[in-house]
Amino acid sequence: MTLASNDDGELLALRELSAVLGADPLRTQGAGGNTSIKRDGVLWIKASGTWLAEALARDIMTPVRLDPLREAIARRDPRAAAAVDFVDPDLNASGLRPSIETSVHAVIPSPVVVHIHCVNTIALAVRRDGEALVRERLGRQADVVTAFVPYRKPGLPLAIAVSERSTVDTNVFVLANHGLVVAGATVAEVADRIARVCNAFSAPARPAPQPDIQALSSIIEGSEYRLPPESAAHAVALDPKSLAIASRGSLYPDHVVFLGPGLATGTIVGGRLRAPDGPRPFPMLALPGVGIVLHRSATKNADAMARCLADVAARIPEDAPTIVLTAAEERELMNWEAETYRQSIAR
Ligand SMILES: [Zn+2]
Repeated sequence: MTLASNDDGELLALRELSAVLGADPLRTQGAGGNTSIKRDGVLWIKASGTWLAEALARDIMTPVRLDPLREAIARRDPRAAAAVDFVDPDLNASGLRPSIETSVHAVIPSPVVVHIHCVNTIALAVRRDGEALVRERLGRQADVVTAFVPYRKPGLPLAIAVSERSTVDTNVFVLANHGLVVAGATVAEVADRIARVCNAFSAPARPAPQPDIQALSSIIEGSEYRLPPESAAHAVALDPKSLAIASRGSLYPDHVVFLGPGLATGTIVGGRLRAPDGPRPFPMLALPGVGIVLHRSATKNADAMARCLADVAARIPEDAPTIVLTAAEERELMNWEAETYRQSIAR
C-alpha cells in the first residue's frame, strides 16, 4: 500500500498545498520545507531531498511510525534524528528516507504540519528583536498561538527546542534563523493560517538596480562560473545595503548547506572574473555592484538559495540588529551525513 493508493481528500489537499508552496520562491526554495499528516499512527512526511513543488507530480511522502519515533525523541535516542529506523517498510513504496526535520513534525500534536522557509518570516527571524516583532505582527490574529523557537540544528535538536517551547495549542512556530512551522486540524485550516501569518510578516523588498547581463557574461567568459537562472538573484550584490547584510554571515541553515558559509566575493581584474582562493570552488560569488555568479558544479538547490538570499536580504532594514550563525553552527551543517544524502537526492 502506498500513500497514493490510500488517497483521500485530506491527503490530496496536502499534496496540492505542498505543490503550491513549493512553486512560490517566497514561501520555500528547492528541497527546503516539508509537509506532513498524521493518520492511523503513521506520520506521512515529505521525503528528504525531494521538492515540495513535485508533490503532485510524484510520490514524495514517506511513512514513519509515530509512537516509536516519539519514544525515541523522548529518550534522546540519536536514531530519532534521521528517523530511518522508524519508517514503515510495508507502506514505503518510494523507498525514500524521511525528511531531516521529521522529528520536528512528530513532536507537534496537530494532524497537519507544514514547515516552510518563507522569506518574510526569515527576514524577521534573523533579527535580535524578532520575537517582539513577530508577536506585534500576529497580535490581532485570535486563533494564532505562537512560539518563538531559538536557533537549533535542524532535526533532533530543533525538535527538542520546539517541544520545550510549545503547548498542545501552539499552531505557529517561528524558528529563529530558519523559518516557519504552521500546524492545524485540517489542510484547509493550515493553508488559511499560513496565508494570514505570511501576510502579517510581509515586507516590501528594497529595490535594487538591474544587472547588466551582457557585462556579466563577458566577465565570466572562460571561467568556471555561470549566470544564475533567475536575474532576481543578482539583487544581493547590486544593492549595497543587502550586500552589507549578507556579508555579516550565514543567516539560515540551507544557505550553508547549498552555498557554503557566509558570502564569498569575487573581483574583476582586467575585465575578467578572479575567484578567491579556497580548497574547493565557492558555489556562489558576489561581485559587488555587478551581480552574482554560480560555479558550474552548483546544483539547482544552489540556484534556489542564491535567489533566496537576495529575497531575504532585501527585506531586512540596513539598521536592523541581525544574528548570524556561529562558526560552530556552520560546521555542524557541513559534513553532516543526513545532509549529504539530501544533496545527493536533490539533483
Ligand atoms: Zn527547514
